Amino acid sequence: MVSALARRANTGDKRIKPSIRRLFGFGHKKASVDLPSSIGMLTANKVFTMSNEQLIQDHTIYPLFHPFISEAQATKVFTAMINGRGSGIHLTAGIMASVVRHKQNLKLCPGCVYDDYTDYGEPYWHINHQLPGMLVCSKHFDKLISYCSVCGVELTVHNESSLPLCPSHCRYGHDLAGQAVKMHDDKAQLLSCGITRVYELGRSGALNHRNFHQVFQHRLIQLGLCSSKGRVEQAQVFQMFNRFYSSELLSSIGVPSPIGVESWLVCILRVPRRSFHPLLHILVILCLWQDVDRFMDDYTNVKERNTSMYKRCSPVQRRTGRSGGNRVDWGKRDKNIARSINNAILELRSSLEKPDRLTVLKIGKRINQLALLERHLDKMPLSKAILDMNIESIEQNQIRKIEWAINTLILDGHVPVRWRVLRKAGIRVLASIEIDTYVDSKINEATVKIVA
Ligand SMILES: [Zn+2]
Ligand SMILES: [Zn+2]
Repeated sequence: MVSALARRANTGDKRIKPSIRRLFGFGHKKASVDLPSSIGMLTANKVFTMSNEQLIQDHTIYPLFHPFISEAQATKVFTAMINGRGSGIHLTAGIMASVVRHKQNLKLCPGCVYDDYTDYGEPYWHINHQLPGMLVCSKHFDKLISYCSVCGVELTVHNESSLPLCPSHCRYGHDLAGQAVKMHDDKAQLLSCGITRVYELGRSGALNHRNFHQVFQHRLIQLGLCSSKGRVEQAQVFQMFNRFYSSELLSSIGVPSPIGVESWLVCILRVPRRSFHPLLHILVILCLWQDVDRFMDDYTNVKERNTSMYKRCSPVQRRTGRSGGNRVDWGKRDKNIARSINNAILELRSSLEKPDRLTVLKIGKRINQLALLERHLDKMPLSKAILDMNIESIEQNQIRKIEWAINTLILDGHVPVRWRVLRKAGIRVLASIEIDTYVDSKINEATVKIVA
């Protein structure tokens, strides 16, 4: 999958390239629509000239989840997305004990297909159309579709070997740009715009506090739905919610109507004991504020009040300030180190020189952080994940050396015969019988190409 992606992205095919860039995050194996895995592999192999972080921030729906999970959970998901062990979405769904039903189909807006075609010569999958709960395009208010409305055929068919490009026509040739249907349900519009807005706020980092309980309570008190001691009028909140959202709307976005004393609505308004799906938070926010930006005003106020209270009420904290100030923020350090490692690997892998074996020693020295990598890798899960994926065994390195030697010899006008390849690669002893066979097959392959 990765190599297919690499090959296509590297062919310089103008028709494919922008799509792949935009599309990434959807076309991955197992067609993980929202939180793909193995991002590290793609960046390390230079398929994309972006950092892992940038890819995740700009081309996946991770920013929507980020504000609603704990720092520890976020690191876990982030790592899973980079090193590809397990899929990010499964992890998040697990973390959230999610009640939201999850659909995998990619969606598009006919109006956007038309605009993209006019502007770029081809449509692409828009990331914000793929956010959970999206029913209409927040720009055109066209209904998002995942099936051709003329013949009913599904627009994306995933399989392991192909990336679903965003179509301008269905498989039977029906023009998708002409299938715009305005959605007149104002709640569906409100919801889609709200989801898009929260996603943007998550991406910009403006929404980051993670503790929404106080903001909710503040608003409930304002609305007379909660006592100053924190007793919520459950029955009234429940009524208000059900008047606001029809059960059809809820079922069309895969959210169950909140029923009973242990419903998700009751739990989300309590002091939080677990994480909830972003969609549930957004439903509550829109019901209480009708508008994400008004919610943000209250959110900012509560956050500022907390910060100033914290400063006033913690003399102990201040007294031990000196030693406290020296304490290492491992999360931050991990991110920085991971970025340097990523860059170092990119440079090493794209060098035209004979490929040295990638080891912790080599990378650590290159980024001037060898001691840190040797002693504290256990505190830096991101860095560890990137290293684990890129550190080479002797065999892996010999393969890379052999490929390099063959290519260099050919470029220099030599015939890549076995002794010459091995001398060029600087290999005296092959690491295994498999490598031995590999050399011969590679040489054969190259020779056939030269003859042809
Ligand atoms: Zn649109
Ligand atoms: Zn059709």
